[in-house]
Amino acid sequence: MSAETLNKNIETVKDVLKKYLEERGHRKTPERFAIIEEIYSTDEHFNIDWLYMKMKEKNYRVSRATIYNTIEILLDANLVRKHQFGEGQQSLYEKSYYAKQHDHILLLDTGEVIEFCDPRIQTIKDSLQEIFNIDIESHSLYFYARKKK
Ligand SMILES: [Zn+2]
Repeated sequence: MSAETLNKNIETVKDVLKKYLEERGHRKTPERFAIIEEIYSTDEHFNIDWLYMKMKEKNYRVSRATIYNTIEILLDANLVRKHQFGEGQQSLYEKSYYAKQHDHILLLDTGEVIEFCDPRIQTIKDSLQEIFNIDIESHSLYFYARKKK
């Protein structure tokens, strides 16, 4: 992605966030916009500690509570996706606004997360909707794997 596209995308999600905060009467603090900017500047899955560290590096005075609180807002606004890859593991998050539908493979030895997109999953969804006469709103699918020796 070019720097120009990235900046345009960040401006767009900031507008989405601004509208969301206004509609609900939440405060539009600079920290919230700095947090979303950080999130949309990375392609990685991240945890709260990572975000906290990034904000500190940029000399923002934000507490972990502020980060948790902002993440809750971003989840509700559908700007962020949350993953719980394993029991007792920290939640991981990722940006979701421009992200294409994808699923995840978690490598158990390294903790590395691989993203993949397979159109057959859409085919399964379509067929389930037909069979059970339902509308599927979302799904989560994780494969837990080890690299072949
Ligand atoms: Zn992902």
